[in-house]
Amino acid sequence: MVTVSVVTPMYDEAAAVDGFAARLRPVLDELGLPYEVVAVDDGSRDATVARLLALRATWPSLRVVALRRNAGHQAALAAGLRAARGDYVVTIDADLQDPPEVIAPMVSTAVSRGVDVVYGVRADRRADSGFKRRTAGLYYWLMRRLAGDFVGGQAGDFRLMSRAVVDVLNGLPEQRPVYRLVVPSLGFPSAAVEYARAARVAGRTKYPLGKMIRLTVDSVTSFSAAPLRVATWLGLVSFVACLALIVGGLLAWSLGGTVPGWTSLYIAVLLLGGIQLICLGLLGEYVGRIYAATQNRPAFLVAFDTGGDVTEGTAPASSEAGADTGTRAA
Ligand code: UDP
Ligand code: MG
Repeated sequence: MVTVSVVTPMYDEAAAVDGFAARLRPVLDELGLPYEVVAVDDGSRDATVARLLALRATWPSLRVVALRRNAGHQAALAAGLRAARGDYVVTIDADLQDPPEVIAPMVSTAVSRGVDVVYGVRADRRADSGFKRRTAGLYYWLMRRLAGDFVGGQAGDFRLMSRAVVDVLNGLPEQRPVYRLVVPSLGFPSAAVEYARAARVAGRTKYPLGKMIRLTVDSVTSFSAAPLRVATWLGLVSFVACLALIVGGLLAWSLGGTVPGWTSLYIAVLLLGGIQLICLGLLGEYVGRIYAATQNRPAFLVAFDTGGDVTEGTAPASSEAGADTGTRAA
């Protein structure tokens, strides 16, 4: 019988944890397959871990993997994918924006059609803010242009993957893989299940503008060298412009009209300086990634992993298990 792992990154989600578990558990219990839930605590500063450990008392299939500090959404996913043992692994947000009920059709689609990836495609994003929708639209448009058509229009990190895919992902030497791009780029047979994106149940988004920009820079630089070629094109354009200016300057000199010209010089110096700085910055972005790759530091550290059962769903047991005594690994 196939087993299912559900991986959920959580950063300061104490307010959402209970509601999430309450909706996720019946869905998984009704699958009729052995499952585990891998909740990855991404260095939360609130009571997320305490809430999770309390839930574990009545839900032995819930496993808590705690990271030492906030490593970011994608790194938390990486930690969860390493820990997951299922034949199928579903990654889902903890804030109920991705409805857990969709997991059932994802699993049945994967089993019946024999595909390795089932994308959760956000057919309806009305619950997201206008700003979020526009920035997301821009992001997917840009990544389709730069990385290729394999990038889906609205596929985030809610998806099911087979063991084969997860093994490939876990074996990647990349420092910070952007999973929503890497998974489709692998080319495994896939299907899609559409769903309506709900509003966040509790708490605030953990993706402020800074993290969104960081994800975009990671996405672009890990899938495209096109920004580096921008430097070449700007250089060519300014070279041609300079040739024209040189001809014009020589003409002006031969005609004896050489005194005015402060403005044009000023503009030329500023413009070329600006272009050069932009190009240096672009280079730096890639050099920085090469540097990080050679340092080869881990993207996350696991503080502890409670372990957990991979069992078929049962009704909540009434007897309370004692204090949590999970295995602790550094
Ligand atoms: N998350 C995380 N680490 C972070 C930021 C976010 O583990 O540094 C988790 C968060 O708890 C949630 C998921 O990633 O389960 C998606 O984040 P969020 O819902 O805040 O993003 P949004 O839906 O607003 O894009
Ligand atoms: Mg969310």
